[in-house]
Amino acid sequence: MQGWTGVFLKVNLTSNKAAAEPYNEDLALNFLGGRGFAIKILWGTLKRGTDPLSPENKLIFATGPLTGIGLPNSGKLVIASKSPLTGGYGDGNFGSWAAVNIRKAGYDALVIEGKASNPLILHIKDKTCEFLDAKDLWGKSSFEVEDQLAKKYSKLAGIVSIGPAGENLVKFATVVSQKGRAGGRPGMGAVMGSKNLKAIVIEGTQPIPLAYPDEMKKLAVDGYKELLAKPLYAFWKRQGTMSTVEWSQENSVLPTFNYQQGAFEKAEEISGFAMEKMKVSNRGCPQCNMTCGNVVKDSEGKDSELDYENVVMLGSNIGLGNLAQVATLNRLTDEFGFDAISLGSALGFAMEASEKGLISEKIGWGQFEEIKKLVYDIAYRRGLGAVLAEGVRSAAAVIGRGSSDWAMHVKGLEVSAYDCHTAPGMALAYGTSSIGAHHKDAWVITWEIKAGRESYDEAKVDYLIKTQLMRGGAFEALTVCRFPQGSLGFELEWYHKYLRASTGQDFPMEKLNLISDRILTLIRAFWVREYGAKWSRSLDVPPMRWFKDPLTDGPLKGSVLNLEKYNAMLDIYYQKRGWSQNGVPTKETLEKLGLADVASQLVVS
Ligand code: SF4
Repeated sequence: MQGWTGVFLKVNLTSNKAAAEPYNEDLALNFLGGRGFAIKILWGTLKRGTDPLSPENKLIFATGPLTGIGLPNSGKLVIASKSPLTGGYGDGNFGSWAAVNIRKAGYDALVIEGKASNPLILHIKDKTCEFLDAKDLWGKSSFEVEDQLAKKYSKLAGIVSIGPAGENLVKFATVVSQKGRAGGRPGMGAVMGSKNLKAIVIEGTQPIPLAYPDEMKKLAVDGYKELLAKPLYAFWKRQGTMSTVEWSQENSVLPTFNYQQGAFEKAEEISGFAMEKMKVSNRGCPQCNMTCGNVVKDSEGKDSELDYENVVMLGSNIGLGNLAQVATLNRLTDEFGFDAISLGSALGFAMEASEKGLISEKIGWGQFEEIKKLVYDIAYRRGLGAVLAEGVRSAAAVIGRGSSDWAMHVKGLEVSAYDCHTAPGMALAYGTSSIGAHHKDAWVITWEIKAGRESYDEAKVDYLIKTQLMRGGAFEALTVCRFPQGSLGFELEWYHKYLRASTGQDFPMEKLNLISDRILTLIRAFWVREYGAKWSRSLDVPPMRWFKDPLTDGPLKGSVLNLEKYNAMLDIYYQKRGWSQNGVPTKETLEKLGLADVASQLVVS
């Protein structure tokens, strides 16, 4: 096999055993890597109904055939497991030297199960694996862990860790690397915490097997040059994703006061241009020349790495218009190991509940000190913090009195930072995303606004599916960053060339789409299998706030989504995916995708 190492490292933390296990080439050709490997492993090895926080759940770090080779934006991995937040499939991708080192150590994925009896660090160096005591690190922030381990191991080692949020099983805890790269929104940090695994250090020294190494070198250099020459490159380096704040404000999709408004009176103060005035440097993922992490000094004088989603969810969504204070919340998010989107949503939910008198705690919009205290309370599960640590779906079930209408989530995962009161296509993207309401698989909102935001037509469904197959399927399986293509217009042709130089095989678009469809359909089957009798198409409908509560301010004041039209669009989506009108892949679809064995395990039609 060329392009893949053909080996997974399987680690059992209960028995302190690790074994390199070769896998069949068919797996690589049919599922590619990353998210594809993750869902295939979870589907095949996890018993239905497994408790996500039990030793039986698997925590998977998966790479793809382009990872670690020194290509543009390819230093990424996918972290996946059954989610404790949603009860379905959960994953996330993030850049880390761990991705590069997994491949250089001779593996395509780490598959971790079991539970250590005491806090542990896993140290992998090529073929060796050590289980080291982590008592001294337990309780420390992800930044402190990174600092301590970086002193001990080689400069090129990959380090991933959890902070107190993961240790305390906060359901939206992430895994953090390099003090700002974080992944696994639906609670992958809690899964790591449930296994008593504080950190992984991985070092690899071997070459990655490539079909055409010389051609690959040249293509890599050409790719980096091509990115540098893109017209939007210079502005991207200045602001990264932060320019989206202005765009969202102009288009009235900026989450504000828990998605009650689409525009914020202090948007300018948390904008990309405001950030530029505070910026001290850029940081980014390995092997990337677009480094989009904007480092600023926060209100406590410490470094904080900003991007759009974090700033908006910890800014306008909770009524905070002071960027230095937003940056402090953002840094705490990375230190504790929270997902920033879910944290911002939980805070906004609590503020609205407080304002409506549904809880006794007083948490005012934009009140920095009160918010900061609540962030600590969530990390350590104190008082209201313990309720919010379960996510907004669960918090609404506790608080009741209609709050589930404005608990902003899909399938338990909090909504990313785009208001959809007047964006039915983006609402459908959230509704049908593989992990719950996340934008990564299909960021269709900029296209939608140009194409006509009011309509619910078939063209939107077609564009959504095309985007999901490319971003949610191919990019997540290759574990490459979506920004070169999505934000700078880096042509898809590059990936076909890279794949050929890596694997020696051709993957034209049609073949890639088929693989993507297979991956996304198997993910859907996993959700259906896990939810069983509780599965229903209503799980593909975004929060009722967008249908019932008109925008309270901004240029689109009064707008709402139409539920009947949304459901008609969902019908078309299901039909095009080959899923039943209950959102379940049909037997014919499963057979067409080479997943015939899956059908017998789906009890709902
Ligand atoms: S563009 Fe940003 S997210 Fe993508 S690889 Fe580079 S630093 Fe990472």
